[in-house]
Amino acid sequence: MQTLADRFNSIQERIRKTEIRSNRPAGSVQLLAVSKKKSIDVIQAAFELGQVNFGENYLQEALPKIAALRHLPIHWHFIGQLQTNKTKLVSENFDWAHSVDRYKIAQRLNDQRPLEFEPLNICIQVNLDDEQSKAGISPDAVLELADAITGLPRLHLRGLMALPRPLSDQQQQRETFRRLCRIQETLIANGLVLDTLSMGMSDDFEAAIAEGSTIIRIGTALFGPRE
Ligand SMILES: *Cc1c(COP(=O)(O)O)cnc(C)c1O
Repeated sequence: MQTLADRFNSIQERIRKTEIRSNRPAGSVQLLAVSKKKSIDVIQAAFELGQVNFGENYLQEALPKIAALRHLPIHWHFIGQLQTNKTKLVSENFDWAHSVDRYKIAQRLNDQRPLEFEPLNICIQVNLDDEQSKAGISPDAVLELADAITGLPRLHLRGLMALPRPLSDQQQQRETFRRLCRIQETLIANGLVLDTLSMGMSDDFEAAIAEGSTIIRIGTALFGPRE
């Protein structure tokens, strides 16, 4: 049976190999461990293996975990859908929010970020496939939102995030991720300073790394299937 340590080491090795194959500097891709539906003990075990960045989707599930693990220097990333009624607790409890897709949400996160904390790190979620059912802003509106967010002092805009529809073909996966990378390049050409592309999950992270991902969000491949 594979242990958590086996899966952790195997993912780290796949990241390193893909960095090399893609001519990316060693260490340029960060693993974000997606711990939704996983227990406090499992998160602590992953932390003891050296994992510091954890992603959670559901606020009510995440808050007790964050409280229980307060003594550990974990960086918490909110990756779930953001509604206005969640912004306050996200701003007070997380280091990152990856799923910002409208100005009103950004403004609330900014206003509610406690003054004693560093600015909240932000990624704008882009809806690459124009899927009605999914969150994310349409590609042609990203620049305007990004410009507006840079005017909010309690937020630090880091880059873009996408959650594309699952594709089994690696070439198709790469084409989709390349589109997010192109949007990022357009923003940078417009003077924005960005260093983060949050893209790639258990089934497509190698394609994402090949296209410039800097944060891959991995749940299943690290923790096993969710209930
Ligand atoms: C659940 C989730 C992941 C992790 O998905 P896996 O396929 O289990 O690796 C990554 N990103 C987001 C936004 C998620 O909701």
